[in-house]
Amino acid sequence: MAKRRKIYEGKAKILYEGPEPGTLIQYFKDDATAFNNEKRAVLDGKGVLNNRISEFVMTQLNGIGLPTHFLKRLNMREQLIREVEIIPLEVICRNIAAGSLSKKLGIEEGTVLPRSIIEFCYKKDELGDPMVTEEHITAFNWATHQEIDDIIAMTLRINDFLTGLFAGARIKLVDFKVEYGRLYEGEMVRTVLADEISPDSCRLWDMDTGEKMDKDRFRRDMGGVTEAYAEVARRLGIIKEAGGAEILSFNGK
Ligand code: UDP
Repeated sequence: MAKRRKIYEGKAKILYEGPEPGTLIQYFKDDATAFNNEKRAVLDGKGVLNNRISEFVMTQLNGIGLPTHFLKRLNMREQLIREVEIIPLEVICRNIAAGSLSKKLGIEEGTVLPRSIIEFCYKKDELGDPMVTEEHITAFNWATHQEIDDIIAMTLRINDFLTGLFAGARIKLVDFKVEYGRLYEGEMVRTVLADEISPDSCRLWDMDTGEKMDKDRFRRDMGGVTEAYAEVARRLGIIKEAGGAEILSFNGK
């Protein structure tokens, strides 16, 4: 059997060469990292859950006409995606104060923001992904004005749609991070949603109890991380068992 060509290995995912030109395989690892790689762990089953949750969310977004890199899930840990050129920005959208916003601006965690706020961070691990403005982004050619406009419009649309989707599962979408890529189609280039949307990249709070159902459980040593992710998947109707047993017991590739 021939070994697949690894294109890139990140903290939580690996990208392999895809079966056809213009495609890649995105593999979800169980590795968890936080605080710019200072804190690390392997959380059994996390990759399987994030693969399923991200598949579900991306499929729903494709369904409302929002272009994404997602093509199809291949197995427990892998999905087929379109190859894109990643725009080096982490785009954060916030509805409720938490995390770095609370810390930096002294706004109590849980405060509902007067309106949704979008922030840009420059994707550069060595620098700890610093927050940047549109001025930096265009001056350094990380993205064009047009791409920034598209990114803002798409992010607000994702926020509206996901807020409703999660509310239907009695979950509050506090904030989330997305990444975009350039999809080259002949002479045309299109901005599409890339990467993943999962409890690793969103803050999700139980609407009734306020309990955290996301990566903050790992960041803050609260325990029950994969159990919380499985509960998100269960509430979205992706898996049946409360503990996600049928997924977590499968220690597949
Ligand atoms: N986030 C992420 N990757 C990052 C930084 C942030 O997925 O490298 C997500 C994070 O999970 C949260 C949102 O973006 O849902 C806002 O994160 P914040 O800036 O508060 O970051 P913190 O410093 O608290 O991780």
